[in-house]
Amino acid sequence: MTKPQHHEIVVIGAGICGATITNELLERGKAVCIVDAAPSPASACSSHAYAIAHPHIGKGSPRLLRLTRIAFLLAQSRWGKVWNQHGIFQPTKKDKVFDRAEMLDYLSALELDGSMALPLSADEASEICGIAQSGVWLPRGASLNLSDATNQALKNHDRLSCIWNTRVTRLENLNNQWLLFNEKNEVIVSADKLVIAAAMESKALLNGIGIRVPLKPVRGQLSIFSIEKNDPWVEKLPNVGISGDGYCLPAEQMSDGSYRWIVGSTFDEGEDDLSSRGVSDDFNREQAKGLVDYSQGKREGLQSSGDFVGVRCVAGDRLPMIGALTQRPGIYLATALGSRGVLWSALAAKLISAQVLEEDLGLLTRFGFAADLVAALAPARFFAGALAAPAALGALASNSKPVFPSAPKTR
Ligand SMILES: Cc1cc2nc3c(=O)[nH]c(=O)nc-3n(C[C@H](O)[C@H](O)[C@H](O)COP(=O)(O)OP(=O)(O)OC[C@H]3O[C@@H](n4cnc5c(N)ncnc54)[C@H](O)[C@@H]3O)c2cc1C
Repeated sequence: MTKPQHHEIVVIGAGICGATITNELLERGKAVCIVDAAPSPASACSSHAYAIAHPHIGKGSPRLLRLTRIAFLLAQSRWGKVWNQHGIFQPTKKDKVFDRAEMLDYLSALELDGSMALPLSADEASEICGIAQSGVWLPRGASLNLSDATNQALKNHDRLSCIWNTRVTRLENLNNQWLLFNEKNEVIVSADKLVIAAAMESKALLNGIGIRVPLKPVRGQLSIFSIEKNDPWVEKLPNVGISGDGYCLPAEQMSDGSYRWIVGSTFDEGEDDLSSRGVSDDFNREQAKGLVDYSQGKREGLQSSGDFVGVRCVAGDRLPMIGALTQRPGIYLATALGSRGVLWSALAAKLISAQVLEEDLGLLTRFGFAADLVAALAPARFFAGALAAPAALGALASNSKPVFPSAPKTR
């Protein structure tokens, strides 16, 4: 066998995560080699064409809320042409009473101004979003075709090399370089720095070098419903996205007058079966009723006309794992994007490239990253004694004012 190629930086996994990190490194002038088991980009969970993105405003740890705001702004400024901004409405929970003043205080504590989040009474929501429920309007909320975005990030580039149809089965460290082996136990490439963005399969690769990470699969099915033009459901279909218990995209009218409506999704923990299920469509029909507050809606009105089934990779604490693997120098991990592939891939691109390029992590404060946020994402959080790590992560100021790139001109 000929001597395997050596690259300074190799990325394993050409889903939205690996592609976004690769793209950021290319933009920063580096050469990158990306390796994937499939014949082309976005073959797995990132084949998803209907992923929504908005800052999180519901229940959740304060760190999660801060992180989703930063990640949302980074994602919006990154995706340009493929960013489909239609706005997203989040209805008030059924057991809560709408209180505008309280909600405004809450949103301002999250640093979400009126351009990002606006409380609406049921009448206002009916006028602005066509939904007669109170809630919060997120006008910059959007959806993204993850497959288009992944392909866009990996379009031809002088400094990009791609190795397709090649599953990495094993890693080995030799003289401070990482060797990547294929199924025949041959070395495919060697790298000084290796980014692992292989979703659930990151677990086995890391296991092979003695690192255990708590990742689990969560199957999800999204339903594509077709609605006849005279069906009573038509009156209820939204013209914006809705995010609540489940989510939906704005309904679209087709050339024959019928409507297409994307509603999702199931969250089947511990499952990784990719076949479509009728029961999952039924679950989504129930979510659809809740989203538009139409409990009398007939099941038959929402006819199944397609679906997307994928397997999310989720960490024990539901946050992504993004950062250097301090006990295996030269390895960087970006996985466990869960149900927030759009947001966390944008964040991973900034954080991983800063670490790979050995930049002063203090520079990340311009995006709003404070040391506690970097530590909350670091794989080190799962290893004994590691949470004392901010020093190892670089001293970050926590009170600098974040500066974001401007929003894209094209949508
Ligand atoms: C039903 C459903 C709804 C969702 N809705 C949303 C949403 O609304 N908004 C949102 O932001 N996100 C959503 N998500 C989540 C989003 O789809 C994922 O977070 C994202 O696609 C994960 O990207 P990834 O690059 O980490 O993984 P993947 O896309 O799975 O990519 C991993 C890549 O690694 C490659 N690979 C794996 N192992 C190896 C190996 N050993 N060697 C070489 N290559 C390897 C695979 O071939 C694959 O290309 C949803 C997911 C599901 C299932």
